[in-house]
Amino acid sequence: MGEICPKCGLPKEICACEALEREGAKRIKIYNTKKKFGKLVTIIEGVEEGELTKTAKELKRTLACGGSSKEGIIVLQGEHRDKAKQLLVKMGYLENSIDV
Ligand SMILES: [Zn+2]
Repeated sequence: MGEICPKCGLPKEICACEALEREGAKRIKIYNTKKKFGKLVTIIEGVEEGELTKTAKELKRTLACGGSSKEGIIVLQGEHRDKAKQLLVKMGYLENSIDV
C-alpha cells in the first residue's frame, strides 16, 4: 500500500500537493512601497529562507544600495525593481516565477 496524502486523500503517487507547494514557494514578488518620510524602498518577497541572506547581500552589493532582510523579505533602499529582477534571473530564478 502506498502512502495517502493527508491533504487531498489521494495516493502520494498521483497527488500534486507537494509539487504545487514547491511552485508556490518559488514565486517571487517584487514591488515598491514608501517608508516613513516618503522614502521609496523595493521589497522582494518569496526568496527561500536559506537563500535570503546571500541573495540580499548580492543584491545590495550589485545595486550599491542599503537594505536588510528578515522573515522571507528583502528590503532595498530606492527603486530597483527591474534591476533586481534581472539579477535574480542571473542567480538562477525563473523569469516567469517573478512578479514585478
Ligand atoms: Zn495531496
